[in-house]
Amino acid sequence: MAKVGILGCDITTRELNCVMVGCFGNLRGREGSFKDYPEDEPLDLVGVIHCGGCPTAVGSDRIWQKVQALVDYGIDSLHLSSCLIQLCPFKDAFLETIKRDYPNLKVVEGTHPFHDPDAFKAGIKELISQRAVKPQTMNDLVFKRMKLPPEKEV
Ligand code: SF4
Repeated sequence: MAKVGILGCDITTRELNCVMVGCFGNLRGREGSFKDYPEDEPLDLVGVIHCGGCPTAVGSDRIWQKVQALVDYGIDSLHLSSCLIQLCPFKDAFLETIKRDYPNLKVVEGTHPFHDPDAFKAGIKELISQRAVKPQTMNDLVFKRMKLPPEKEV
């Protein structure tokens, strides 16, 4: 039995409401980055943890805490989510730190494939920047121009 942990991107889950359906679906179906495990070896998803947010000046120094939380439960392999691998500017520093600190851990880059990585990146950029569809903000509330759903109109 392979005990698997997943390290995800905090922003995609916390801000963009990603429920990691692609990660878990590929794990259940033993597809994507999970297809290389031996067919007769059951996969046990021990846990999921996220990076803790963009570290800026701290760099990769605290990523070990996240990995350690999974290592404490005896994981054999750690998958960095595909979002983290595709989007994170700290990816290489994270990988270097994790491989240095946990030399016996199997580290896998990714969880699921992307059908169109460029379209994915463009979509994420828009979700974060909200240029095409202007979001409401606190200023809309302050300046009394908030749009409410019909049942909430006062
Ligand atoms: S550090 Fe990377 S993985 Fe973590 S929230 Fe920022 S972009 Fe996502």
